[in-house]
Amino acid sequence: MATETIPNVSILFNRPYVDGRVLENIKKVIETGKISGDGPMCKAVEAQIKELFSVKHALLTTSCTHALETAMMMLDLQPGDEVITPSFTFVSTANAIIRGGGKPVFCDINDRTQTIDVNDFERRITKKTKAVIPVHYAGVSAEMDEILEIARAHRLVVVEDAAQGVNAKYKGRFLGTIGDASAYSFHDTKNYVSGEGGAFTTNNDALARKAEIIREKGTNRSNFLRGEVDKYTWVDHGSSYILSDILAAILKSQLDDLDEIQAQRKRVHDGYMRGLAELERQEKLRLPVIPSYCESNYHIFYILLRSEEERVRVTKQLKEFGISATFHYVPLHSSPYALKALGTRDLKLPVTDHIYSTLLRLPIYPQLRDAEVEYVVGKLREILK
Ligand SMILES: *Cc1c(COP(=O)(O)O)cnc(C)c1O
Repeated sequence: MATETIPNVSILFNRPYVDGRVLENIKKVIETGKISGDGPMCKAVEAQIKELFSVKHALLTTSCTHALETAMMMLDLQPGDEVITPSFTFVSTANAIIRGGGKPVFCDINDRTQTIDVNDFERRITKKTKAVIPVHYAGVSAEMDEILEIARAHRLVVVEDAAQGVNAKYKGRFLGTIGDASAYSFHDTKNYVSGEGGAFTTNNDALARKAEIIREKGTNRSNFLRGEVDKYTWVDHGSSYILSDILAAILKSQLDDLDEIQAQRKRVHDGYMRGLAELERQEKLRLPVIPSYCESNYHIFYILLRSEEERVRVTKQLKEFGISATFHYVPLHSSPYALKALGTRDLKLPVTDHIYSTLLRLPIYPQLRDAEVEYVVGKLREILK
């Protein structure tokens, strides 16, 4: 079997995709003599994002966290205002709400795609609710039509956390272009990377203008640079969220290889799905579901085991075989900060707790070879025999 040809196995969990052209692109930036942000390279990459994903506005930011903060800051939240988001997400989603002056209200996820439970979201809406942040998990979309319908009925702003959703689709539309505003991540654990980085996207002109001001320290410098005003000044609250052109240069070569990177991830995903199908038939694990109306970008490959004890045991045994596999988000409602600052002790989110306990992420990245995928599959079969 192919697995025996791999000596001293060490299969990393993640490897960022960076190729040789990165250095050429960085060199181009250095030669322009301008290495801060919003220079020619940033503009080129923003134009590329707009074109690739059919979105009207794209502003590169220093992280997805900062793009989410930009979105929350523009809502002008007042004390007591609430924003609903799943508990099963990265801390940045909730931090952005707090930094924007609001209160995160956590809801459950559905058991099929681990994205926001639409009914639970609707149940948690109050007079204080101003917005919702659905999170696209693992490259698979949240149920956007239902979310938008509920949000419109209650006049809520919809901000997609599309950190994991770059180049994935929902009913033919790219994630990060469906809600009122969205945030992408280019952190080096994501599919397309600049090291650290992100983007704020929107089809709404007024929101784009607000975002420009927030990420430019609350000034109208962007209008000034376009010659729309004759000097620039402090016009709103803001921060410093513009990505350096050097980091944009790193992202450029990956956007040029967008579909190739995704095809390689799909190869790994398909290998796991084929190799583990038998274990799913035997009900020893569950495999991820991609609904027919979604196109995944294969950001994460996870399996769902039967119990937390089993997940811990499988993780440990895989490690002994040289394979890095890892759990995911500790639910935010049970985190020390939420317990202390948000009083979430009595909040019951059963699906979130169950998924957290049983979910295990396997290595997935373009450089992962078929033989390595087979090795992981073989070891899982052995462990779960
Ligand atoms: C990675 C991630 C973020 C944060 O992205 P950064 O670019 O590192 O700030 C936010 N939300 C989700 C769901 C993520 O996966």
